[in-house]
Amino acid sequence: MIAALGKALAEKSTTSLETTTTALTAAKRDTFNAFLAIDEAGALAAAKASDERRARGATLGPLDGVPVALKDNILTEGVVTTAGSKMLANFTPPYDATVTARLKAAGAVILGKTNLDEFGMGSSTVNSAFKPTKNPFDATRTPGGSSGGSAAAVAAGIVAGALGTDTGGSIRQPAAFTGLVGLKPTYGRVSRAGVIAYASSLDQVGPMTRTVEDAALMLEAIEGFDAADSTSSDAKKTSWRESLRSGVKDLRIGLPREYFVDGMDPEIERSVRAAAKQLESLGASIVDLSLPHTKFALATYYVIAPCEASSNLGRYDGVRYGHRAADVKQLKELYERSRSEGFGSEVKRRIMLGTFALSSGYYDAYYRKAQQVRTLITRDFEQAFQNVDVVLSATSPVLPWKLDEKLDDPLAMYLMDVLTLPCNLAGLPGLSMPCGVSSSGLPIGVQLLGKRFDEATLLCTAQSLESALNLKQEVR
Ligand code: GLN
Repeated sequence: MIAALGKALAEKSTTSLETTTTALTAAKRDTFNAFLAIDEAGALAAAKASDERRARGATLGPLDGVPVALKDNILTEGVVTTAGSKMLANFTPPYDATVTARLKAAGAVILGKTNLDEFGMGSSTVNSAFKPTKNPFDATRTPGGSSGGSAAAVAAGIVAGALGTDTGGSIRQPAAFTGLVGLKPTYGRVSRAGVIAYASSLDQVGPMTRTVEDAALMLEAIEGFDAADSTSSDAKKTSWRESLRSGVKDLRIGLPREYFVDGMDPEIERSVRAAAKQLESLGASIVDLSLPHTKFALATYYVIAPCEASSNLGRYDGVRYGHRAADVKQLKELYERSRSEGFGSEVKRRIMLGTFALSSGYYDAYYRKAQQVRTLITRDFEQAFQNVDVVLSATSPVLPWKLDEKLDDPLAMYLMDVLTLPCNLAGLPGLSMPCGVSSSGLPIGVQLLGKRFDEATLLCTAQSLESALNLKQEVR
């Protein structure tokens, strides 16, 4: 854990080099396929530099010397970044993403890059072009996705925290599946510069950690205005650690009817309702809520995200960078073969869906319509947040499924995102945290959604719930 490790480093009961060496050994032995790349030399150098700073009394802050991992769609200068795709199997970025640079500036030790569904497209990490990641709680099951590698790396205790990205739930759902805290910040709070784009109006980077406090610490390090991202916000930075202490007294917490969906696992529903009760006993009031356009969110997302993806992925043409087909004779053949060979089947499916929905004649019927419904979904939340401070639901309607399930049924996979996508469509902050364990020993996550730029209320609600539940959930 970041805070605990920070304390141990401050008390000199360990050094960054010692901790990093242990983490590297664990990462190399990793049986969950959490990592795509381990940067041993970079991590050791960063750890030594951190120890030297500490010896000089020049420690940078709570992340200084702490080993972390980054989802492999976040650029790292000089370290291969693949986005889980054959297309970028040999791509070494010439610069750091803003979030990478900020973590380095905070002294964090970047241990390596974690596995993901190709370009972030998926909910299981099985769509990685390289290998599927396994859930540390049950290696026959998925850790969720698309940030499944980051989730497994933290849940297995290899690193203290990791960054994921969340376009439709990819931080929160894997966090729920592996007993972690995962925070998708408000759209615009964290820079997307140097993050390989999936759907630019939905993508956000955020922390995946063992505790709420650790999520706050990581958010503090990465957030803030960045001129290199045109959608970056200059919303004021808050001291998140301060806000953790505010408690939930007099907070109004809404339970949206539409989020307690048919087919939801009854153990999850029970656990999530119990979490709401717990918050009530701490002084919050529970309000019944309706978000009437929820039923359109899935269809809306699965038009908008593929449209943006088809546009973003146009850049992989075999000319500028990425996979290039061999022995081609003409330009068109170069495009066709490079893209056919480089992209996996889910990515191709999204590109086709998006290109179709954007094509002349269908644009109005699909893309424009989806944008209009997106506005209605956003308004649902705006209205709801006039009466409540936090919206509470399950993160996923089901427990982690077996790695070989749902593979030939893309729609079944899309349906798994039903509770996480609306938050991205509306640009809101969302957090998932553990609220229980199933009878089969699998983690259950509760999701908290907040007002735009009100991560403070989310974090303090989460902190109160975490302290009250006091779950001791360890990988068996
Ligand atoms: N599972 C969703 C998708 O496939 C969300 C992925 C994400 O948040 N990156 O699009």
